[in-house]
Amino acid sequence: KELSSRNSLTYFTDEMKDTSRDHFEIEMNLRKGLELNQFTLYYQPQIKASTGMVSGFEALVRWNHPEIGLVAPDVFIPLAESTGFIVPLGEWIIEQSIRKMSELEQTGAENIMISVNISPRQFIHENLPEMIFRTLALYNVAPSRLCLEITESVAMEENTLVIERLNLFSEKGIRLSIDDFGTGFSAFVYLQDYPVHEIKIDREFIKVLTDNKKSKALVKTIIDLAGNLELSVIAEGVETPAQLDLLRELGCDYFQGYLISRPLPSDELEKWMNQFEY
Ligand code: C2E
Ligand code: CA
Ligand code: CA
Ligand code: CA
Repeated sequence: KELSSRNSLTYFTDEMKDTSRDHFEIEMNLRKGLELNQFTLYYQPQIKASTGMVSGFEALVRWNHPEIGLVAPDVFIPLAESTGFIVPLGEWIIEQSIRKMSELEQTGAENIMISVNISPRQFIHENLPEMIFRTLALYNVAPSRLCLEITESVAMEENTLVIERLNLFSEKGIRLSIDDFGTGFSAFVYLQDYPVHEIKIDREFIKVLTDNKKSKALVKTIIDLAGNLELSVIAEGVETPAQLDLLRELGCDYFQGYLISRPLPSDELEKWMNQFEY
């Protein structure tokens, strides 16, 4: 049903020849797509290891293109990031996610988190904090229900704006997670000064986790690092029971991956939560 990144990438590069004029055209289509309501959010469950219960969901955007179907975010997020379209798209994503959270709370789901990916350009945009606080207030959702997933590339930007912002979000109770941990510039120094709450181990580590001793040692080191810094640690891309068992044994706090569930369309969340048992 869902087009792979490769197929939709082929579409964009072959059909549109990858010139700057065509980038302009894609961007126009993206903007039109937002107006025409062609974007949609999927939600992937996250599980708490100690209870086996759902702890939250990560919001993942897709573009429901009228001709080519569901386009994966890998295809258009980088372009949206480079053109600045990520700002209006990101605001739409934040608003939808927070609205979904308020819906979940109204159906009785307690202590569920919503994690939203924030790209670097979006993170430093001047309106972001005000937009987030206004939307939380509008939907009457506590800041502590929201987790912002940022990558190391944001965290590594040595500027005062980033630190100020992380502090502001943290003071207001918003959780901060370092996404794709270990794949960026591997300097840990920022973990010392930045008020982050969670490390998210990248799927690339999980993929090879049960293959050899080295991979296991790497993941163990990340989990121990998180523990020593009193940060939570979540593994993404968990696909097999063997990976899950080993992660449990190593002390990983949360899991996410196809083993538990693929990202779900918005209207399937409640049903899934009612049926889920682990
Ligand atoms: P990410 O934040 O690292 O998200 C994890 C990706 O892994 C998602 O792909 C998810 O569907 C996929 N995944 C989850 N579990 C498994 C598994 O067990 N096996 C495998 N093979 N894959 C799994 P998706 O949704 O295609 O998103 C790709 C990337 O696009 C994301 O990587 C993120 O960087 C970006 N992205 C997605 N949604 C948003 C968004 O709303 N805003 C921004 N700024 N970026 C987004
Ligand atoms: Ca993420
Ligand atoms: Ca990742
Ligand atoms: Ca990523």
